[in-house]
Amino acid sequence: MSSLHAVPGAGGAPRPPRSGSSTQVRVEAPGKVNLFLSVGAPAADGYHPLTTVFQAVRLIETVTARRQAADLHGAITLTLEEPYAGVPTNAANLAVRAATLLAQTTGVGDGVDLLLRKRVPAAGGMAGGSADAAAALLACNALWGTGLSQAELAGLAAELGADVPFPLVGATAVGHGRGDRLTPLMARGTYHWVFATSAQGLSTPAVFRRFDELVPGATAPADVPAALTAALRDGDPFSLADALHNDLQAAALDLRPQLADIIAAAESAGALRAIVSGSGPTIAALAPDPAAAMRVANALTASGLVAQALRVDAPVAGARVVG
Ligand code: ATP
Repeated sequence: MSSLHAVPGAGGAPRPPRSGSSTQVRVEAPGKVNLFLSVGAPAADGYHPLTTVFQAVRLIETVTARRQAADLHGAITLTLEEPYAGVPTNAANLAVRAATLLAQTTGVGDGVDLLLRKRVPAAGGMAGGSADAAAALLACNALWGTGLSQAELAGLAAELGADVPFPLVGATAVGHGRGDRLTPLMARGTYHWVFATSAQGLSTPAVFRRFDELVPGATAPADVPAALTAALRDGDPFSLADALHNDLQAAALDLRPQLADIIAAAESAGALRAIVSGSGPTIAALAPDPAAAMRVANALTASGLVAQALRVDAPVAGARVVG
């Protein structure tokens, strides 16, 4: 177990636990890969308008919200189930920020102990922190009996970060705006991915800054190509591979040139395509079937270029209470 920090709960004096309610709620939420990411010129507030297609992948974060001892007076605390490099356990953790926002919004002062089991690589462009925030919102809403609707939770999720609403819904969806205005997308079949992680993360803001330098004349983000929606509708990994696109890839490769070697190694081992996942540095390699995914993962592991090669299928459901 890693260290424990506390921030005060909001909403005045702590209330006693509601009688009859459960003592803990466990929620699972998925990481994501961007099948398509088109980035426009930054607006006056510095944010880049996006068109993106998210797919939820079977790398599952688990947040258990536990009713806490009365003597902690409404604190919101977090413990990592196993140490996980680069993940804060204090008020900066996105799961703690999510629980704190829900407490402030609803006036609940009960506090909570959050237990977090991570499976999504940290700072890897797969929105693990965002999945933790989504899971914490759902878990605390159930534990505290605050009864916010899915739409109200989605509103809080968007306040926490542009990538937080998607893990609430999961599956496959188009994101507009900052990526937080979601429309579900019809997708058939199961896709077989290999995610190649790097020992060192890449900062998302740094990748966007490099994008601005490399593409000074960016305009409005492009629409989702018809070929991509057709590939998903048909459940065709070959056509999907052709349609994968990430506007941030050039910026991520510029900051981390070794990523090009990982892409080449994945494709020569049988991946249909390999691209940078989100803002990187994780590389997402799409395989035609599970056996090919195994060969790609083995080749990447043997190459010594990657920290880990994770075989993962997709799409999967969004955040849900599992216990
Ligand atoms: P995105 O694709 O949304 O940019 P990411 O997958 O690249 O996200 P995350 O793992 O979500 O990156 O986290 C990025 C940073 O946020 C980390 O470097 C870490 O300092 C901080 N952080 C805060 N809370 C968490 C969390 N619960 N899990 C991981 N990182 C967190």
